[in-house]
Amino acid sequence: MKIKGKDDHLTYDDVKELCRTYISNEESLALIDKAYEYIMVKHAGQTRKSGEPYTIHLIWVAYILATLQTGPKTITAGLLHDVMEDCDVSSQEMINLFGEEITSLVEGVTKINKMLFKDEEDVYAENHRKIYIAMAKDIRVILIKLSDRLHNMRTLQYMRPDKQQRISRETLEVYAPIAHRLGINDMRIELEDLCLFYLDPAAYKEIAELLETKRSERKASVEKMMKAVRNLLDEHHIEYRIKGRAKHIYSIYKKMVIKHKRFDELYDLNALRIIVNDKMKCYEVLGIIHDCFRPLPGRFKDYIAMPKPNMYQSLHTAVIGEDGHIFEIQIRTEKMDELAERGVASHWRYKEGIEYSSKQEQKDIVSKLQWLGDFITLSDEVKDSDAKEYYDTLRRDIFEANVYILTPQGKIVELPNGATPIDFAYRIHTEVGHHAVGAIVNNVMVPINTKLKTGDICEIKTNKNSVGPSEDWLKFVRTASARNKIRQFIAKRDAENEKSFIEEGRKLLKEEIRHRELDEKKYLNPETYASYFGSFGAKNFDDLLLTIGKKQATAQTLLEKVCPSKTGFFDNLSKMLKKNNNALNNQRKNSSVGITVNGMNGLKTQISKCCNPIPGDKIIGYISKGQGIKVHRADCPNILNIDKGRIIDVYWDYTNITERRFEVEIEIIGLDRPNLLNDVMTVLSQVKVNILNINANIEDVDANIKMRLSVENAEVLQITIDNLNKIQGVYEIKRIIH
Ligand code: MN
Repeated sequence: MKIKGKDDHLTYDDVKELCRTYISNEESLALIDKAYEYIMVKHAGQTRKSGEPYTIHLIWVAYILATLQTGPKTITAGLLHDVMEDCDVSSQEMINLFGEEITSLVEGVTKINKMLFKDEEDVYAENHRKIYIAMAKDIRVILIKLSDRLHNMRTLQYMRPDKQQRISRETLEVYAPIAHRLGINDMRIELEDLCLFYLDPAAYKEIAELLETKRSERKASVEKMMKAVRNLLDEHHIEYRIKGRAKHIYSIYKKMVIKHKRFDELYDLNALRIIVNDKMKCYEVLGIIHDCFRPLPGRFKDYIAMPKPNMYQSLHTAVIGEDGHIFEIQIRTEKMDELAERGVASHWRYKEGIEYSSKQEQKDIVSKLQWLGDFITLSDEVKDSDAKEYYDTLRRDIFEANVYILTPQGKIVELPNGATPIDFAYRIHTEVGHHAVGAIVNNVMVPINTKLKTGDICEIKTNKNSVGPSEDWLKFVRTASARNKIRQFIAKRDAENEKSFIEEGRKLLKEEIRHRELDEKKYLNPETYASYFGSFGAKNFDDLLLTIGKKQATAQTLLEKVCPSKTGFFDNLSKMLKKNNNALNNQRKNSSVGITVNGMNGLKTQISKCCNPIPGDKIIGYISKGQGIKVHRADCPNILNIDKGRIIDVYWDYTNITERRFEVEIEIIGLDRPNLLNDVMTVLSQVKVNILNINANIEDVDANIKMRLSVENAEVLQITIDNLNKIQGVYEIKRIIH
């Protein structure tokens, strides 16, 4: 039976005839009849812009749905899709007559219809959101909407030009991509060509004419190639079907406009399709063709082993034909061919008695169409965000997905171009993202911001105790959903941290108040500080405490401002130095430093005084005469020229280090300026390093500050030096060697 198209005359009998080809249950067919009789009454007297009765539109929609072999409920809903909106039928009346399932389908379509398409971006996004939400709920709603839109596009000539533009644009941007994603190829192609006809009539006409003038020339070439291929396949006793294939105008337009190609550069205008019985035959045919015609490098694509996200399967290749023309050849099975034309619809093809329903069978389809599953989950996750974000998320993460990454179990995950292992981790599961600490791609450990490529096998390493996503991740993640989840996590963590920083600030302030023997009541009262908020960049007292808690300012500086101590800065300093020295002396009793010599414990070692290494420093041992082994820093200049025979490997034995703090001496050289010393002190208090002694000298414009510090290890010292280096005017910092 020939499927009727754009220019054919259609009646309800055609719908029935088509339905009977795959629906035999009389009750189901009666349901469709009942809907038809109902709309004939309800829409009576209404006409379309073309002057035809309104019902012709509904009959066409039902017919298009039947070509997709959708079930009787979907076809019934297709007939009824405008009745609630245009005839003021209540949902109760619909439920009474046709049941809840059909009513909910019609309501779904009505909701989408109520949207206004405008240019303002937010309204535009809002429209998409509603369409996507309706689609995520029940994909049959979109099939009805697509069929509705296809017929409206076919009859767009009766509309006002501004409406033609608006509807075409919306169709091209929203509906054609959805049809594409669902794999309903015939529909997508027709929609795209119709859109182009209205949006760029001059280009449409030009391409159509070019195709026409070259047609006879091309036809001869295609026929010659077909004959050659036929002979070849016959020789190999292969059963096949072969057809020539017309490229649709919009795809040529895209290549000419977007890729800036000239019409005669579009070599895949010549295309053949070979259809065989089973999968293995596809590869056999490919082999036979490549053996006889030279394939073009880089043009072979195996969509059988690696189906497209809309489940499209086929082998694609391009070869040079006998007459020198390039031919694009597709090879696939009958089943793959059907899928390529009717897409997702061919999967839930109505089975007698079991209509695809929103719950059970949607599950089944989702398991096959992975993007749809992602789409539904994602739609649910972001449905409360604002319309633009919702639309951007789904467009970027789902509709523009074009790299396909594999899990180690072989599951395909689709991601947008430029996606990283972190995007991948969040797509697997939010918790996998939050705890990701590393990525292994194709068995190699890679940085987590690596751009993934199609075919990569990606495995995410997680750690339950990881601190979670960092702000840096936001700089490289590509999917909006990963970005949203990272932001949410960080916002939550910041809020928690903020509280603890405020408490820490309060504690530090209290300590300093006690230390200065000030009145606690007065100096813990926010009002005392009201006129100082501004100078610390704070808005209120909590803010001020936050600044202190985060070590961006010290309680000392604050109190010094509010209530300058009589003794002054340096007196406080000397008090502090005394305190630190006492504490260190107390600690030093009964402590020893563990050093292993060549793997042996218990050998007598002595830390060299010239370079004074501390745990964490790279060290070497020097076997001295009578004094055991002297331990130097590996870069100590004093051992450069000594007898190499006396050098021995030594290591820190961290299990045997009881001392908690070590003395080091450093020298800071910088440009002398007021407050230089004060800045140095602030840094040291931020990194919690104790100062044992300070000696500052000024020579010309240079300040030279020598300090004895007490630090935990070489790592803390390095952090300290790094921070001191950031002080304005500091040129150089070195550890002192005696
Ligand atoms: Mn309609």
